[in-house]
Amino acid sequence: MPNHSDQIILVNGLILADPDSCLVVPHGKTVIKGNMLSEVNSQLEAPPFSSEVIDCSNCLIMPGLVNAHTHAAMSLLRGLADDLPLDKWLNDCIFPSEAKHVGPEFVFLGTSLSAVEMALGGITTFADGYFFMEKAADAAAEVGLRAVIAQGILDVPSPDCPDPAKWNKRIEEFFARFPESPLTRPALFCHSPYLCGPETFRIAKKLAADHGTLLFAHISETRCEVEEIASRFGKTPLEHVHDLGILDRNFVNVHCVHLSDHEKDILADSGAGVVHCPESNMKLASGACPTRDLLKRGTSVAIGTDGPASNNNLDIFEEMRSAALMAKLVTSDPEALDARSVLRMATIQGAQVLGLDHSIGSLKAGKLADLIVIDLDRPHLTPVFDPVSHLVYCARGSDVRDVIVNGRIVVRDGSIITIDYSELASQVRSFAAKIAADLGIRTELK
Ligand SMILES: [Zn+2]
Repeated sequence: MPNHSDQIILVNGLILADPDSCLVVPHGKTVIKGNMLSEVNSQLEAPPFSSEVIDCSNCLIMPGLVNAHTHAAMSLLRGLADDLPLDKWLNDCIFPSEAKHVGPEFVFLGTSLSAVEMALGGITTFADGYFFMEKAADAAAEVGLRAVIAQGILDVPSPDCPDPAKWNKRIEEFFARFPESPLTRPALFCHSPYLCGPETFRIAKKLAADHGTLLFAHISETRCEVEEIASRFGKTPLEHVHDLGILDRNFVNVHCVHLSDHEKDILADSGAGVVHCPESNMKLASGACPTRDLLKRGTSVAIGTDGPASNNNLDIFEEMRSAALMAKLVTSDPEALDARSVLRMATIQGAQVLGLDHSIGSLKAGKLADLIVIDLDRPHLTPVFDPVSHLVYCARGSDVRDVIVNGRIVVRDGSIITIDYSELASQVRSFAAKIAADLGIRTELK
């Protein structure tokens, strides 16, 4: 649904152009022309007749949030199994359910549902890794979110590649069929060094490089993984990918919970980014990513929710708060990670890790128009001394009033306007009823 005006003008309100600045021009304006920001916080004159004007009094205008790691379609498995260690959770619950139910419809519905949840919570860009990812790209574009869509690769049978010897063919098909959209770009995702061998990593990296895109992997998430890789290869997971020659700016390390100081130095030298998923790491009792040490060494650290089956929601405001609190707790240092650093991780550094910081992650004339409007007129956000503190320590996803992605209004007054949510929710409930019946779960879902 295109906007009917030539331009959108946001008037009044506090403007947080990036985490390091908070500008307020009394009666100022931010102008969106097409899919770009053309003015940020300039003096308001009478708006042209063809403009849509959004009044942001008592609101904060800021860059859209970046969720740098999720498995969006897994919202259809949310709440199916909790309170287990990662290996038991994956092998006994998630992998068997996926083998039975994950197909194109599952991925389209689950990703659509998650994209709506993310949009309502102020996420304008997400990085996804799963199966049948052409369908995830369709879902993201339909809801209207920007997304890096990474096709999953495993050395064991997976829902869209039952014969792992043929994963190469699946990847060719993925790139060939990837739908055209200004919002989505394809990428690859090797699950982890324990489920992808050295040759798989090498070939995947070459294919990603040939297509000018990113390769993601879960790296050093649990102690168990570190021990397994040490016994198989005589090194840590990070040393392993480094020795394979694939650790560079276009390689994204998800988790990095268990790292020695030497590995932190390797990471910083490589220029590779890290995605910190504090709530998933806490829920699976994996440990804490050493964010303070990584940031100190100059590594870009983004924030991710991880999948909705291991979190179990997709709220980056919660993740920001958890990231700050977790860093303080594990270091016994209240200065370990301050609110401003955390907000950078969820905006400009998130964009950096995904290679998108030239176009998103801050509000600047000439950048793409991905922004959110937060309603500050709430008891838990009153009064405002420092908006950055509020965003990290007080705000919730439900405080987001409006969301604009690529110049298109996706959320208006707290409601999604790009798709029919009630129709989507009823399709999701029908699909979930099939999963529940199959597993013998009594449910009220219809
Ligand atoms: Zn993950």
